[in-house]
Amino acid sequence: MTSLRAATPLSELSIATLDDADPLRAVRDRFALPEGVIYLDGNSLGALPTATAARVASVIHDEWGVGLIRSWNSADWIGAPQRVGAKIARLVGAEAHEVIAADSVSVNLYKLIVAALTAQPDRTVVLSEPSNFPTDLYMIESALQAFGGRHQLVLAPRDELAARIDDDTALVLLTHVHYKTAEMHDMAAMTASAHARGALILWDLSHSVGAVPLDLNGCQADLAVGCGYKFLNGGPGAPAFLFVAERHHTTLTSPLGGWMGHARPFAFIDQYEPAAGVDRYLCGTPPIVAFAALESGVDLHLEMDMQIVAQKSRALAELFIDLVAVHGAPYGLKLVGPPRGAPRGSHVSFRHPHSYEIMQALIARGVIGDFRAPDILRFGLTPLYLRFADIAQAVAILEEILRTEAWRAPEYQVRHAVT
Ligand SMILES: *Cc1c(COP(=O)(O)O)cnc(C)c1O
Repeated sequence: MTSLRAATPLSELSIATLDDADPLRAVRDRFALPEGVIYLDGNSLGALPTATAARVASVIHDEWGVGLIRSWNSADWIGAPQRVGAKIARLVGAEAHEVIAADSVSVNLYKLIVAALTAQPDRTVVLSEPSNFPTDLYMIESALQAFGGRHQLVLAPRDELAARIDDDTALVLLTHVHYKTAEMHDMAAMTASAHARGALILWDLSHSVGAVPLDLNGCQADLAVGCGYKFLNGGPGAPAFLFVAERHHTTLTSPLGGWMGHARPFAFIDQYEPAAGVDRYLCGTPPIVAFAALESGVDLHLEMDMQIVAQKSRALAELFIDLVAVHGAPYGLKLVGPPRGAPRGSHVSFRHPHSYEIMQALIARGVIGDFRAPDILRFGLTPLYLRFADIAQAVAILEEILRTEAWRAPEYQVRHAVT
């Protein structure tokens, strides 16, 4: 791959010093990363922890193959959603009994939006922001259909959100770290604004959990959802999770009354009776093989100090921004989202009219980030396995692609289904 040479404002020596001083440098060995790849997409699909393959194999061979149906009890398959939920609770500042792992983020959004609206029949507005992650907006629309047209989705830009909350607002639904720009909401302040007008708030933590320190209860948050396959390294399509603050456990109920959310699923009675607490938000049978991979990823995160992870994330972002300011800006790359030093999530994004082609050229050279329509190059900065030298090398390769216009090659113009 391209060497750094003298092209960077920081010498190779000073980058090596950053890596030597990195308290997380040994954690890289806990991941199975392919040779010749700089993986800058852990915010979209987290990398594979080395412990996961053996763990999943054991669930398949021992628990399924030998234990068969007995494993629902003997291997506590039945307790997986609560057990993994309790572990995730420690990463988001919640109590163990307030979090459950289940379904996808989309389905969990539906359950919590409908639950929140049903509990507040006098309020008819769900407030969110334009350019929120699409599924969040789509699921609001779907949830509103359950109420026969009485409700309304209102979108307001982030600097107007707090002022738009009024006595008609049932629910404020926001993504804590923006999936494109990495902008981060002030969770405590926005939650307080919602509560001041008597509204509930639902935080989507998909780009936050495992990436930035979180304190749902410290912020008095009501509801939250989050993703298992991004920074938690739970594997493709890993179960998601949801949080319901204890004070809402008896007043809110899931609209999807599946048997796993029943108070006594194995009583097999005709009448639905919601389980206590967050258990009522389970619906169908948990995917146990996927849960094994998710739990392995979560366990790794529980060994980490989130303050140290966040510090390194900021340092990686600042290095990336500084290097692109020198080597990308002359070719038209523009930073999107928070400026250097401002609060942010754990990715950096840049705008360029040919972002798609540039990203394809990067991927062909082993630098894997992603493209987000219409014109964004997005790079996930996962502190657990990235070295400062990886960032420097990625920017050196990016600079070469821009300088030589290698992105103009016809093979990089082909659009793939997943970007
Ligand atoms: C990734 C992501 C999702 C994913 O939803 P799924 O239904 O689990 O695919 C939802 N919301 C946000 C903000 C995301 O970043």
